[in-house]
Amino acid sequence: VQDTSDFDKEVESICPFCGVGCQVSLKVKDDKVVYAEGINGPANEGRLCVKGRFGFDYINHPHRLTKPLIRKEGAEKGLNVDPANPLTHFREATWDEALDVAAKGLMKLRDEHGGEAVAGFGSAKCTNEEAYLFQRFIREGFRHNNVDHCTRLCHASSVSALLENVGSGAVTATFNEIENADVAIVIGSNPIENHPVAATYFKQFTKRGGKLIVMDPRGVGMGRFATHRLQFKPSADVSMLNAIMHVIAEEGLQDDDYIAKHTENWEAMREHIKAFSPEEMAPICGIDAEELRAAARTFANGRAGMIFWGMGVSQHTHGTDNSRCLIALALMTGNVGRPGTGLHPLRGQNNVQGASDAGLIPMFYPDYKSVADPAVRDQYQALWNVDGLSDQKGLTVVEIMDAVYDRKIKGMYILGENPAMSDPDVTHVREALERMEFLVSQDIFLTETASYADVVLPAAALAEKTGTTSNTNRQVQMCRPAVPPTGEAQEDWWITVELAKRMGMGWTFDHPSQIFDEMTQVMPSLDNITWDRLENENAVTYPSLSPEDPGQAVVFGDGFPRENGRARFAPATILPPAETPDEDYPMVLTTGRQLEHWHTGSMTRRATVLDAIEPEANCSMNPKTMREMGVEPGGMVRLSTRRGSIDVMVRADYAIAENMVFLPFAYVEAAANMLTNPALDPYGKIAEMKFSAVRVEKIEEG
Ligand code: SF4
Repeated sequence: VQDTSDFDKEVESICPFCGVGCQVSLKVKDDKVVYAEGINGPANEGRLCVKGRFGFDYINHPHRLTKPLIRKEGAEKGLNVDPANPLTHFREATWDEALDVAAKGLMKLRDEHGGEAVAGFGSAKCTNEEAYLFQRFIREGFRHNNVDHCTRLCHASSVSALLENVGSGAVTATFNEIENADVAIVIGSNPIENHPVAATYFKQFTKRGGKLIVMDPRGVGMGRFATHRLQFKPSADVSMLNAIMHVIAEEGLQDDDYIAKHTENWEAMREHIKAFSPEEMAPICGIDAEELRAAARTFANGRAGMIFWGMGVSQHTHGTDNSRCLIALALMTGNVGRPGTGLHPLRGQNNVQGASDAGLIPMFYPDYKSVADPAVRDQYQALWNVDGLSDQKGLTVVEIMDAVYDRKIKGMYILGENPAMSDPDVTHVREALERMEFLVSQDIFLTETASYADVVLPAAALAEKTGTTSNTNRQVQMCRPAVPPTGEAQEDWWITVELAKRMGMGWTFDHPSQIFDEMTQVMPSLDNITWDRLENENAVTYPSLSPEDPGQAVVFGDGFPRENGRARFAPATILPPAETPDEDYPMVLTTGRQLEHWHTGSMTRRATVLDAIEPEANCSMNPKTMREMGVEPGGMVRLSTRRGSIDVMVRADYAIAENMVFLPFAYVEAAANMLTNPALDPYGKIAEMKFSAVRVEKIEEG
């Protein structure tokens, strides 16, 4: 039993896991975080989920990297390295030596093959300052834009559709605005497991009488609170959403005033959706025509409506089209820009919003300024005192790994990302990592990716560092160090600065506040937000209209940040997934997270309580399908796709449709991404991780 009063000090910071961005008070005893409590942050008002409450002791796990490591001459690369004993393959080094070797290795590739021989992955688990610095390091150090991070695997397609049609990639309203709504849609999202504290606001909304429409191929838990549950066929989002819009237009339920004042291209949209009657779409999306009509009426007749979505929408080859439909649905019903209305892609990692805002993406400088815009490039050349910055869009995550595989990219600096687990088709990715001539990995553990590295740089965990993060609500929040870095680990920004110095870039930053100050010079989104304010107030929502304004929860009431001030309807048509079930692979595989585990599991599987609750790789199937296969709950099955096979324990779950398998992606011993399809959405360049054709076979015992 934990004695919750027995601690030396308490430090206010941010939960390191999901994009909700809960504020926590970390209780520290003997330089260890022993207990965490929710405090009154704008996104959580004292609440925490099981990860934020019990998921902190990964900080003290014996696998933490405590010294820089250099690969031993001739040592084999890859997953055969035991993170508990990396010295079989690596030797310890001083910081000076490791940084020298890392910088020289990257420079050698640049000097011999040109800057494009080196690419970078940053991390949404790092602070805004670290994300900003990382993209600057690659852009300035190698004169190209081949720098990306996990947003590419998360909401890249949502951001692409939002930028195209609304003019801004962030949410138009905080999720807490649901307090002012009377109707809401949650689609392609399982917030009870993936954004648990946000889900508490959704549940309270329904208790107050709010009407909730839950749409998902899985029978997600939020459905228990729903007025309408639409468990549509996997990948049929566009047909279902177009049918709903068809009903609204057919019955004249659209908001004509709003459409006239704030939008463009409505007539084309109205013509387009005429072809999607509920009767014709019902067999395609698997939802009864009357239910489609009923859901359409409920949403359109609401006074104020919000739309929330997750990776069930975004991780498709038609992910951008899915988001275009959601944007159109909100626009045609006048549900943007007022209290209780808005578009809200629920962001995944704790700082994926901030890392994207800070320019950790290959087509944009900070605040989504195009790399191809000469004026923007000039601005950065002046600010960084360099010339020759590239005006070519860079490669994205999957494209970079393909270029590594093809030996066009020969080296990488990977900070806090774990593509050997997180990217689609990891067999291909692991082979690419093996082929790489020089890899610098910077992380808190020897991850699957770090096991391929030539130099491993030990980084501080979030509870060990100073900096800001931006959550799904556009809330910029202050993170404070509760404990000193483990061993000789260093904060990520410090490591990047030291590498830059060794590459002759003349950087002089010695505190994250200086980096934040540089960001404020080029990021209008940070207007009126200063380091001192964040120190004093903990959180400010952007945009903040004055030094006293806590920030705008709802934006675009007075027009959209597009050239003509109007949002745009973008008609979307039905496209099939990249591969469809057939005789060899007759079922559909979808992947996702579980409540207790976080992404590739590097942190949560090393958190005692979380690992005790969910210790074992598993998949879930419908009990009827399992009976037909003669598989018992707890039995083993082999899942095979065109990319590979894994063996995994199966659970019975009525929430899973009969032709589907759900597979969490946190378990290295049954890595979900051995199976996933790397086919990309052409706009957001996000892979189709939510739909692969799969064969399931029972593994006989004994
Ligand atoms: Fe952390 Fe997200 Fe849970 Fe909040 S909801 S405690 S941010 S994991």
